[in-house]
Amino acid sequence: MKKSANEYDAIIIGAGIGGLVCGCYLAKAGMKVLIAEQHNKPGGYCTSFKRGEFTFDAAAHSFGGMRFGPLGKIFNELKIKEKINIYHCDPSDIIITPDLQVSFYSDINNTIKNFQEAFPNENYNIERFFNFLINSEKNISISIRKSNFSQILDSFFSSSKIKSVLSFPIFGNSGLPPSKLSAFLGLKLFKEFLLDGGYYPEGGMQNLANALVEIFKENGGELLLSSKVNKIICDGKNALGIRLLNNEQVSSKYVISNCDMRQTYLKLLGKEFIDKTFLNTIKKMSPSLSVFIIYVGLKEPFYGNYFEPGSNIWYLFDYNLDKNYFNSKKGFFNDINNLMMHIFPDRKSVTFFINASFKNKMYWTENKKVIMNLLLDKIEKLSIENISDNIKFKEAATPYTLFKYTSNYKGASFGWAGITSQLVLPGFIKNTFIDGLFMTGHWTTHGFGIPGVTYIGYETAQKIIKNFKR
Ligand SMILES: Cc1cc2nc3c(=O)[nH]c(=O)nc-3n(C[C@H](O)[C@H](O)[C@H](O)COP(=O)(O)OP(=O)(O)OC[C@H]3O[C@@H](n4cnc5c(N)ncnc54)[C@H](O)[C@@H]3O)c2cc1C
Repeated sequence: MKKSANEYDAIIIGAGIGGLVCGCYLAKAGMKVLIAEQHNKPGGYCTSFKRGEFTFDAAAHSFGGMRFGPLGKIFNELKIKEKINIYHCDPSDIIITPDLQVSFYSDINNTIKNFQEAFPNENYNIERFFNFLINSEKNISISIRKSNFSQILDSFFSSSKIKSVLSFPIFGNSGLPPSKLSAFLGLKLFKEFLLDGGYYPEGGMQNLANALVEIFKENGGELLLSSKVNKIICDGKNALGIRLLNNEQVSSKYVISNCDMRQTYLKLLGKEFIDKTFLNTIKKMSPSLSVFIIYVGLKEPFYGNYFEPGSNIWYLFDYNLDKNYFNSKKGFFNDINNLMMHIFPDRKSVTFFINASFKNKMYWTENKKVIMNLLLDKIEKLSIENISDNIKFKEAATPYTLFKYTSNYKGASFGWAGITSQLVLPGFIKNTFIDGLFMTGHWTTHGFGIPGVTYIGYETAQKIIKNFKR
């Protein structure tokens, strides 16, 4: 039966990478699909913006997993390289502490060698650790699912310095120190972000989202921008469609939420449709930390002693990651002793990232500028000399900004916090308790970051296609 203009096989709420990948697969399978996105551009955390001559990625600024994870296979299937050039930055990540510098290279043997030079007493353990990571799929046992990442590190190393250095980029990416991060997620992150990181779409991260939109539309998909969904229509058992902010109703057999889980259940669906135990579980869950971002446009480009654009440059001024986590969580910006710097290809647009916890709009209106300047002073003292004389443009995004643009609960960077107890809970993975309602993206607790949500988008679509064909 032909569908009316206002009737779809599937509606996806949100055009983040998870929603877009899911949409591409559903549309490719011949389904009539609509994506409704609240923002005026697609991508969620994977967008870019311009300020005068400078172009910045708003949040995500590179991705990994083309070689080791399923992301490479999915991008090949979607023929994404026909739309954009993806280049590989080598080294992908550089860690700088007061007394050493180590890098993650595309060739893992170079990475191993580099770590062995920095930690000669750990020669053999470093080799064992990296071999374990490469084979981590085979090594994931039930006990690893119950362990934290510290326990993995402890089984290879005794020196606390190497443990901090190895886990610092994982801490930066997940917002959790190894003592709190699930071993399963830590291994996944290590493999996807560090052993195979540094991929970048030419022209900026927005181009990745735009390429997915093109593929989606070529397969018949429709994208509505600036269209916030404010209700999932449900008869108590089945999802029936959505209602937009302008009160327009659109019906569909499947509804897929790419937005945060609290919003999906508590606001869009409504508490009346949720089992009480499940409701309490959601209310008790903790989100991952958010980030305070400083976007800087320079008068003179970074050359010489500085690094090639594209690498994530991680500065660690205090090896105690638990203390760093505590300071970020409490908002003690005076005591922040770590940050990440990313230089864009023009060598003039630079971003700095510091983990931070959510506070309300009023707090950031009062404190954003002060905190930005305090952090820039710190950056100047600790890392880059004379940066303040070279700044032409500066702006900051707070956890509230991240929330404002994506509606992610508390501006969380990676969905739920990756602690062991929150790893995989019933109802948090793709199927929900309502027939026809699915979740996709980084709130499903299955994985996060671009590689994670790409895979979740793919998997959610496979489930729906199977069900649809039946
Ligand atoms: C500062 C920062 C830096 C990061 N850096 C990296 C990195 O370098 N590499 C990496 O791999 N990962 C990085 N990440 C993580 C990564 O960006 C995310 O895990 C991933 O992009 C999440 O994708 P998603 O599709 O699940 O959700 P999102 O990107 O959050 O997309 C959800 C979409 O849903 C929309 N939406 C929400 N509610 C509604 C509604 N009611 N109606 C309509 N639309 C709605 C939002 O506007 C948004 O577009 C970073 C995250 C942050 C915050």
